[in-house]
Amino acid sequence: MPQHRRFEGPTDLHLHSSHSDGTEPPAEVMAAAHRHGLHTAALTDHDTTSGWAEAAEAATSLGMTFVPGMELSARHRWRSVHLLAYLVDPDDADLRAMTDRIRSSRLDRAQIMAERISHDYDIAWDDIVAQTTDGATVGRPHIADALVARGIVVDRTEAFASILHPAGDYYVALYAPDPVTAVELVVGAGGVPIVAHPAGRALLPDSVLTAMLDAGLAGFELHHRENLPEPTALLAELAAERDLIVTGSSDYHGLGKPNMPGENTTADDMVARIFALGRGTAPVFP
Ligand code: AMP
Ligand code: ZN
Ligand code: FE
Ligand code: FE
Repeated sequence: MPQHRRFEGPTDLHLHSSHSDGTEPPAEVMAAAHRHGLHTAALTDHDTTSGWAEAAEAATSLGMTFVPGMELSARHRWRSVHLLAYLVDPDDADLRAMTDRIRSSRLDRAQIMAERISHDYDIAWDDIVAQTTDGATVGRPHIADALVARGIVVDRTEAFASILHPAGDYYVALYAPDPVTAVELVVGAGGVPIVAHPAGRALLPDSVLTAMLDAGLAGFELHHRENLPEPTALLAELAAERDLIVTGSSDYHGLGKPNMPGENTTADDMVARIFALGRGTAPVFP
């Protein structure tokens, strides 16, 4: 069984390509992971698995183990929740229907945001399309890139802190399932659900976390630059109590964020637990 084959760390389980809002194609993302000394790496584009084949080929040809993953969008009231989904069946009908719906809502929402922004800034929908590759999951980062290209802001960071801020007039929320539904979908597709960067400013209420755990949530990404010390300590306690999986990863987005491959990594025993739990698809070994 492939799940029982050996793999080697260091392992980074959270990287994005141009199939969502990373700036590099999947093969370049894996090459960057390799340059940074990683031996095992996942591709976790937002709401899509379309980059897996290219990433798997590139990773294994570099001698790395590839972990198929995705970062599924979810939402609890105003909080956006990102659910990492490892080893899901990419053809699972319910999960596919959901990711199709989210991606289509992302496109509508980006068009509405672009329209709102165009009232105050010289920017058009075509500028945003020019920043995406065909079929990519569209997000605010692409609008940010269009604003940079127009010289309105200097980088994505400035765009997110100003024009694209959720509290601003231009912001539109995207459709996303509630976190419990998201966990159920990932489990239903044979995957391993882990909450991405769960310890930021907007910590999920205990009741939601408990419901997610009851639905099969497997763990938390506790080593990530956006996690804050206090909530991280709280979730680490919960993880220890319940023997949950704890991961660490970079959330690399190419040039789109300062995050670098391998700046956080996941311990080998935790990677082994993910490999043992995932039933939807297998890791790809070199
Ligand atoms: P969206 O899902 O379209 O609302 O956009 C959220 C995405 O933007 C996430 O993938 C984040 O990684 C990215 N993002 C959030 N804040 C920033 C930032 N300050 N600079 C660059 N990317 C960011
Ligand atoms: Zn992203
Ligand atoms: Fe995220
Ligand atoms: Fe991410």
